[in-house]
Amino acid sequence: MVTRADIGVIGGSGFYSLLDDATEIEVTTPYGPPSDVVTVGRIGSRSVAFLPRHGRDHRFPPHRIPYRANLWALRSLGVRQVLAPSAVGSLRPEVGPGTLVVPDQLVDRTSGRMQTYYDADGVVHVAFADPYCPAGRAAAVSTARSSRWDLVDRGTLVVIEGPRFSTRAESRWFTANGWTIVGMTGFPESVLARELALCYTSLSLVTDHDAGVETGEGVTHEEVLAFFATNVARMRSLVTDVVAALPEERTCPCGSALDGLKLPFQLPD
Ligand SMILES: [Zn+2]
Repeated sequence: MVTRADIGVIGGSGFYSLLDDATEIEVTTPYGPPSDVVTVGRIGSRSVAFLPRHGRDHRFPPHRIPYRANLWALRSLGVRQVLAPSAVGSLRPEVGPGTLVVPDQLVDRTSGRMQTYYDADGVVHVAFADPYCPAGRAAAVSTARSSRWDLVDRGTLVVIEGPRFSTRAESRWFTANGWTIVGMTGFPESVLARELALCYTSLSLVTDHDAGVETGEGVTHEEVLAFFATNVARMRSLVTDVVAALPEERTCPCGSALDGLKLPFQLPD
Protein backbone atom coordinates (compact mmCIF):
# COMPACT_ATOMS: atom_id res chain seq x y z
CA MET A 1 0.00 0.00 0.00
CA VAL A 2 1.38 3.39 -1.05
CA THR A 3 0.87 6.14 1.52
CA ARG A 4 3.60 8.60 0.49
CA ALA A 5 4.25 10.21 -2.86
CA ASP A 6 6.99 12.15 -4.67
CA ILE A 7 4.79 13.74 -7.29
CA GLY A 8 1.53 15.61 -6.76
CA VAL A 9 -1.14 16.23 -9.39
CA ILE A 10 -3.82 18.84 -8.77
CA GLY A 11 -6.67 18.07 -11.18
CA GLY A 12 -8.63 20.95 -12.69
CA SER A 13 -12.22 21.33 -13.88
CA GLY A 14 -13.54 17.99 -15.11
CA PHE A 15 -10.39 16.17 -13.97
CA TYR A 16 -11.52 14.46 -10.79
CA SER A 17 -9.56 11.21 -10.74
CA LEU A 18 -6.24 9.90 -12.00
CA LEU A 19 -5.08 6.74 -10.28
CA ASP A 20 -6.47 3.23 -10.38
CA ASP A 21 -5.87 1.10 -7.33
CA ALA A 22 -5.14 4.08 -5.09
CA THR A 23 -5.23 4.62 -1.35
CA GLU A 24 -7.47 7.39 -0.11
CA ILE A 25 -5.85 9.53 2.56
CA GLU A 26 -7.64 12.09 4.64
CA VAL A 27 -5.06 14.77 5.42
CA THR A 28 -5.41 17.43 8.06
CA THR A 29 -3.38 20.65 7.87
CA PRO A 30 -2.93 23.78 9.98
CA TYR A 31 -5.01 25.49 7.26
CA GLY A 32 -8.01 23.21 7.47
CA PRO A 33 -8.87 20.30 5.19
CA PRO A 34 -7.78 20.24 1.52
CA SER A 35 -10.34 20.24 -1.31
CA ASP A 36 -10.91 16.51 -0.94
CA VAL A 37 -9.29 13.28 0.21
CA VAL A 38 -5.94 12.75 -1.48
CA THR A 39 -5.51 9.53 -3.44
CA VAL A 40 -2.05 8.04 -3.50
CA GLY A 41 -0.87 5.35 -5.88
CA ARG A 42 1.68 4.47 -8.52
CA ILE A 43 2.21 5.45 -12.11
CA GLY A 44 4.95 3.15 -13.34
CA SER A 45 7.83 3.44 -10.89
CA ARG A 46 6.69 6.81 -9.50
CA SER A 47 4.49 7.38 -6.47
CA VAL A 48 1.82 9.98 -7.12
CA ALA A 49 -0.69 11.86 -4.98
CA PHE A 50 -3.80 13.18 -6.71
CA LEU A 51 -6.03 15.95 -5.42
CA PRO A 52 -9.00 17.37 -7.34
CA ARG A 53 -8.62 21.15 -7.01
CA HIS A 54 -12.35 21.92 -6.86
CA GLY A 55 -13.28 18.75 -4.93
CA ARG A 56 -14.62 15.64 -6.64
CA ASP A 57 -18.10 17.16 -6.85
CA HIS A 58 -16.70 20.52 -8.01
CA ARG A 59 -17.97 22.24 -4.89
CA PHE A 60 -15.23 24.88 -4.55
CA PRO A 61 -15.35 27.87 -6.93
CA PRO A 62 -11.88 29.22 -7.84
CA HIS A 63 -11.88 31.96 -5.21
CA ARG A 64 -12.90 29.56 -2.42
CA ILE A 65 -10.42 26.74 -3.05
CA PRO A 66 -8.39 25.95 0.08
CA TYR A 67 -5.09 26.55 -1.74
CA ARG A 68 -2.93 26.65 1.39
CA ALA A 69 -4.35 23.39 2.73
CA ASN A 70 -3.96 21.72 -0.68
CA LEU A 71 -0.26 22.44 -1.11
CA TRP A 72 0.51 21.76 2.56
CA ALA A 73 -1.32 18.42 2.36
CA LEU A 74 0.69 17.36 -0.69
CA ARG A 75 4.00 18.35 0.86
CA SER A 76 3.14 16.52 4.08
CA LEU A 77 2.63 13.33 2.04
CA GLY A 78 6.18 13.67 0.70
CA VAL A 79 5.37 15.46 -2.57
CA ARG A 80 8.11 17.68 -3.95
CA GLN A 81 7.05 18.06 -7.60
CA VAL A 82 3.59 19.30 -8.53
CA LEU A 83 1.81 19.10 -11.89
CA ALA A 84 -1.16 21.41 -12.21
CA PRO A 85 -3.55 20.74 -15.09
CA SER A 86 -6.19 23.43 -15.53
CA ALA A 87 -8.71 24.83 -18.00
CA VAL A 88 -7.89 28.26 -19.42
CA GLY A 89 -9.20 30.75 -21.96
CA SER A 90 -7.04 31.88 -24.86
CA LEU A 91 -6.14 35.55 -25.35
CA ARG A 92 -4.78 34.96 -28.86
CA PRO A 93 -6.76 34.10 -32.00
CA GLU A 94 -4.05 31.67 -33.12
CA VAL A 95 -4.15 29.69 -29.85
CA GLY A 96 -7.34 27.67 -30.20
CA PRO A 97 -9.29 25.17 -28.09
CA GLY A 98 -7.40 21.95 -27.50
CA THR A 99 -4.00 23.67 -27.36
CA LEU A 100 -1.76 22.91 -24.42
CA VAL A 101 0.09 25.92 -23.04
CA VAL A 102 3.02 25.36 -20.68
CA PRO A 103 3.42 28.92 -19.38
CA ASP A 104 6.67 30.35 -18.11
CA GLN A 105 5.22 33.58 -16.70
CA LEU A 106 2.26 34.67 -14.64
CA VAL A 107 0.33 37.85 -13.90
CA ASP A 108 -1.71 37.97 -10.71
CA ARG A 109 -5.03 39.80 -11.08
CA THR A 110 -6.68 38.07 -8.11
CA SER A 111 -7.72 39.95 -4.99
CA GLY A 112 -8.45 38.99 -1.43
CA ARG A 113 -7.01 35.49 -1.61
CA MET A 114 -4.67 34.34 1.11
CA GLN A 115 -1.47 34.02 -0.90
CA THR A 116 1.20 33.25 1.69
CA TYR A 117 2.05 30.87 4.51
CA TYR A 118 4.28 33.54 6.00
CA ASP A 119 1.75 36.01 7.35
CA ALA A 120 2.84 36.02 11.00
CA ASP A 121 6.02 36.06 13.09
CA GLY A 122 8.82 37.16 10.83
CA VAL A 123 9.33 38.27 7.26
CA VAL A 124 9.88 35.78 4.46
CA HIS A 125 10.25 37.04 0.87
CA VAL A 126 10.56 34.25 -1.67
CA ALA A 127 11.90 34.81 -5.17
CA PHE A 128 9.17 34.42 -7.77
CA ALA A 129 10.70 35.98 -10.90
CA ASP A 130 10.34 32.61 -12.62
CA PRO A 131 7.20 31.09 -11.14
CA TYR A 132 7.47 27.68 -12.79
CA CYS A 133 9.88 24.78 -12.43
CA PRO A 134 12.26 24.67 -15.42
CA ALA A 135 12.67 20.88 -15.17
CA GLY A 136 8.90 20.31 -14.94
CA ARG A 137 8.32 22.62 -17.90
CA ALA A 138 10.93 20.80 -19.96
CA ALA A 139 9.36 17.41 -19.15
CA ALA A 140 5.88 18.70 -20.02
CA VAL A 141 6.98 20.31 -23.28
CA SER A 142 8.93 17.31 -24.57
CA THR A 143 6.14 14.91 -23.59
CA ALA A 144 3.42 17.00 -25.24
CA ARG A 145 5.54 17.43 -28.33
CA SER A 146 6.19 13.72 -28.73
CA SER A 147 2.48 12.94 -28.25
CA ARG A 148 1.63 15.50 -30.95
CA TRP A 149 -0.28 18.04 -28.94
CA ASP A 150 -0.90 21.51 -30.32
CA LEU A 151 1.59 23.10 -27.98
CA VAL A 152 2.62 26.56 -26.90
CA ASP A 153 5.96 26.39 -25.09
CA ARG A 154 6.16 29.47 -22.85
CA GLY A 155 3.55 32.15 -22.48
CA THR A 156 1.98 34.26 -19.80
CA LEU A 157 -0.96 33.11 -17.73
CA VAL A 158 -3.05 35.91 -16.25
CA VAL A 159 -5.03 34.77 -13.24
CA ILE A 160 -8.26 36.62 -12.58
CA GLU A 161 -10.27 36.56 -9.37
CA GLY A 162 -13.48 35.16 -10.85
CA PRO A 163 -15.86 33.53 -10.52
CA ARG A 164 -17.06 35.80 -13.33
CA PHE A 165 -15.32 35.72 -16.68
CA SER A 166 -13.49 38.75 -18.16
CA THR A 167 -15.20 41.72 -19.76
CA ARG A 168 -14.28 42.38 -23.39
CA ALA A 169 -12.25 45.43 -22.32
CA GLU A 170 -10.28 43.43 -19.74
CA SER A 171 -9.70 40.69 -22.23
CA ARG A 172 -8.47 43.11 -24.92
CA TRP A 173 -6.21 44.74 -22.36
CA PHE A 174 -4.69 41.37 -21.42
CA THR A 175 -4.11 40.62 -25.10
CA ALA A 176 -2.59 44.05 -25.74
CA ASN A 177 -0.10 43.36 -22.95
CA GLY A 178 1.10 40.32 -24.83
CA TRP A 179 -0.33 37.79 -22.37
CA THR A 180 -1.35 34.39 -23.68
CA ILE A 181 -4.03 32.72 -21.56
CA VAL A 182 -6.40 33.54 -18.73
CA GLY A 183 -7.47 31.34 -15.81
CA MET A 184 -8.76 31.55 -12.25
CA THR A 185 -6.74 29.03 -10.24
CA GLY A 186 -3.05 29.38 -11.19
CA PHE A 187 -2.54 31.84 -8.37
CA PRO A 188 -1.96 31.60 -5.42
CA GLU A 189 -1.42 27.88 -6.08
CA SER A 190 1.94 28.49 -7.78
CA VAL A 191 3.34 30.88 -5.18
CA LEU A 192 2.27 28.67 -2.30
CA ALA A 193 4.13 25.81 -3.97
CA ARG A 194 7.21 28.04 -4.15
CA GLU A 195 6.81 28.98 -0.47
CA LEU A 196 7.01 25.27 0.34
CA ALA A 197 10.03 24.78 -1.97
CA LEU A 198 8.01 22.58 -4.30
CA CYS A 199 8.43 22.32 -8.07
CA TYR A 200 5.29 23.56 -9.82
CA THR A 201 4.37 23.11 -13.48
CA SER A 202 1.19 24.40 -15.09
CA LEU A 203 -0.42 22.29 -17.83
CA SER A 204 -2.96 24.74 -19.20
CA LEU A 205 -5.53 23.34 -21.61
CA VAL A 206 -7.25 25.96 -23.74
CA THR A 207 -11.00 25.35 -23.70
CA ASP A 208 -12.17 28.49 -25.52
CA HIS A 209 -11.29 32.03 -26.52
CA ASP A 210 -11.68 34.76 -23.92
CA ALA A 211 -14.32 37.49 -24.39
CA GLY A 212 -12.13 39.99 -26.27
CA VAL A 213 -11.04 37.39 -28.82
CA GLU A 214 -14.48 35.80 -29.23
CA THR A 215 -17.17 37.58 -31.26
CA GLY A 216 -20.13 35.88 -29.56
CA GLU A 217 -21.38 36.14 -26.01
CA GLY A 218 -18.16 34.91 -24.45
CA VAL A 219 -17.72 31.67 -22.59
CA THR A 220 -20.03 29.90 -20.17
CA HIS A 221 -19.04 27.60 -17.36
CA GLU A 222 -21.03 24.78 -18.98
CA GLU A 223 -19.00 25.14 -22.17
CA VAL A 224 -15.75 24.98 -20.21
CA LEU A 225 -16.82 21.86 -18.32
CA ALA A 226 -18.16 20.15 -21.45
CA PHE A 227 -14.95 20.85 -23.34
CA PHE A 228 -12.76 19.67 -20.50
CA ALA A 229 -14.86 16.50 -20.08
CA THR A 230 -14.29 15.53 -23.71
CA ASN A 231 -10.57 16.19 -23.34
CA VAL A 232 -10.02 14.70 -19.93
CA ALA A 233 -8.82 11.35 -21.30
CA ARG A 234 -6.15 13.16 -23.32
CA MET A 235 -5.13 15.20 -20.28
CA ARG A 236 -4.98 12.11 -18.09
CA SER A 237 -2.74 10.39 -20.58
CA LEU A 238 -0.53 13.47 -20.88
CA VAL A 239 -0.19 13.77 -17.10
CA THR A 240 0.69 10.08 -16.87
CA ASP A 241 3.45 10.54 -19.44
CA VAL A 242 4.76 13.74 -17.84
CA VAL A 243 4.96 11.97 -14.47
CA ALA A 244 7.24 9.39 -16.06
CA ALA A 245 9.35 12.13 -17.66
CA LEU A 246 9.94 14.12 -14.45
CA PRO A 247 13.49 13.78 -13.10
CA GLU A 248 13.86 11.50 -10.07
CA GLU A 249 16.49 13.76 -8.52
CA ARG A 250 15.72 17.46 -8.36
CA THR A 251 18.53 19.61 -9.73
CA CYS A 252 16.28 22.65 -10.46
CA PRO A 253 16.39 25.72 -8.18
CA CYS A 254 12.91 25.07 -6.65
CA GLY A 255 14.15 22.93 -3.77
CA SER A 256 16.47 25.66 -2.54
CA ALA A 257 13.88 28.47 -2.80
CA LEU A 258 13.95 28.91 0.97
CA ASP A 259 17.70 28.56 1.55
CA GLY A 260 19.02 31.33 3.76
CA LEU A 261 15.54 32.44 4.84
CA LYS A 262 14.49 32.24 8.46
CA LEU A 263 11.19 30.40 8.53
CA PRO A 264 8.73 30.89 11.37
CA PHE A 265 7.82 27.20 11.38
CA GLN A 266 9.04 23.81 10.27
CA LEU A 267 7.88 22.64 6.86
CA PRO A 268 6.11 19.29 6.81
CA ASP A 269 8.10 16.32 5.51
ZN1 LIG B 1 11.77 22.40 -9.83
